[in-house]
Amino acid sequence: MFLDKFIMLYSHLIQPITLTLLPPCCLLCGTSTRNPHSLCSDCYKDLPISTQNCPRCAQKLHSTSATCGACLNHPPPFDETHALFPYQAPITQLITKLKFQHQLSHAKALGTLFCARIQEHWYQSKPLPDLLLPVPLHPARLQARGFNQAVEIAKPIAKHFAIPLDLTGVRRIKPTAAQSGLSARQRKQNVAHAFASNEDYTDRSLAVIDDVMTTGHTLRELCQLLKKKGAKHLTIWCVARNE
Ligand SMILES: [Zn+2]
Ligand SMILES: [Zn+2]
Repeated sequence: MFLDKFIMLYSHLIQPITLTLLPPCCLLCGTSTRNPHSLCSDCYKDLPISTQNCPRCAQKLHSTSATCGACLNHPPPFDETHALFPYQAPITQLITKLKFQHQLSHAKALGTLFCARIQEHWYQSKPLPDLLLPVPLHPARLQARGFNQAVEIAKPIAKHFAIPLDLTGVRRIKPTAAQSGLSARQRKQNVAHAFASNEDYTDRSLAVIDDVMTTGHTLRELCQLLKKKGAKHLTIWCVARNE
């Protein structure tokens, strides 16, 4: 009885104390972990790995050619794509929880995984981009969700490498329908003229950050605009690539 009353009266003090004392948990299995990416070592080891991918669009390569047929026939407006993971479980689960259950800790974990991959694999021998551009959401979508997942994923990367985040240079001006469930042709039409910018990107080297890259139509549309605005080099950094 006394304890109940004590907890009720001091719950505002107890909660932060327990949060500090209890070790953080793995985002996938709940085991306690102090790994910076918030995944226990077992779950981390089991994450899916992309095999041989096209350097330009990160699509899985089915032959030994250096670039995929689609990029050879219709070169995209971006120069390269780095995908952290293929779009499969449990990455799908992490992204869904981030976007639809507001689990912002997942964005921080994904950003931390990006930092390690950038440092240890993708950019060992080449300069980092000079600006990070998370794919903007339309203001109506942003208001409904309360945050832009691409921005939340980009924040720890920007902080770790001290690269500025561009949150205002490009606006999403068309309230596009969700791309999932649309045919390739419909996806293309859906995002046509979706972005606008008054910014001058002459000679800038940008990494465009997104959660999932499926057909790539949204990223193509955005990168076409950035190239028109003078961007010199465009790299896509996406969490998951639909292979
Ligand atoms: Zn785990
Ligand atoms: Zn390709």
